[in-house]
Amino acid sequence: MKRLAEGTIVFKDKVFEPNKEFFQPLSHEQHPVALMFTCCDSRVEPAIITQSPPGTLFVVKNPGNLIPKYQVGGSSSEAAAIEFALTMLNVHHIIVCGHTDCAALKAMFSLKDLPQESSIYQWLAPNLEVLDSLEVHQDLDECLNELIRRNVIQQLQNLATYPEVAKRLEAGALHLYGWKYRLQSGETMLIDPFSCKPEPLSAVIANLEEEVRPDMTLGQIEKQVP
Ligand SMILES: [Zn+2]
Repeated sequence: MKRLAEGTIVFKDKVFEPNKEFFQPLSHEQHPVALMFTCCDSRVEPAIITQSPPGTLFVVKNPGNLIPKYQVGGSSSEAAAIEFALTMLNVHHIIVCGHTDCAALKAMFSLKDLPQESSIYQWLAPNLEVLDSLEVHQDLDECLNELIRRNVIQQLQNLATYPEVAKRLEAGALHLYGWKYRLQSGETMLIDPFSCKPEPLSAVIANLEEEVRPDMTLGQIEKQVP
């Protein structure tokens, strides 16, 4: 904990203070480029893997980067974040980013061994349909990779059940993306629902629209730190 507390002091003195012109406007407004759902795994840091400064990403982290299907009057944090990002922040892009070695998804293979009253069971059980027709065989790494891919696609489909999402998709005012972050290489792959083979984002980058981004990149901010 001491390391974390010291980090907050270093951030204020070495990052915030020398970059006040960047941080001050963020004290009363935000214009994030995208809403991102990803796993609460400590190794997956959206701002770092996308090299984005504060104010760029509106992030929801949870075990397995799950998005519950829309329910009228539903009160999940995911539903609230979708509504806020779309109606208050006018976000035009939503990313669902899975990752390799995901413990939450690994747990789905043996969910029946968990007590039903466990919170992990209750969180993962509504998502069990991603296991449908998945052939579980000896090569568990391969099975997990396929589950990660299917899970991202399922969450994109769940997103589309939200009326605000569906309405904006129909109007061409919202774009959804499936990503997979590879812990072993630092590479992020694009998951296309129509293809079984994830493609490196670097291969499709030319097709993405340029967004209005904050003036400073995370890398530039980090350069201020001695
Ligand atoms: Zn995970």
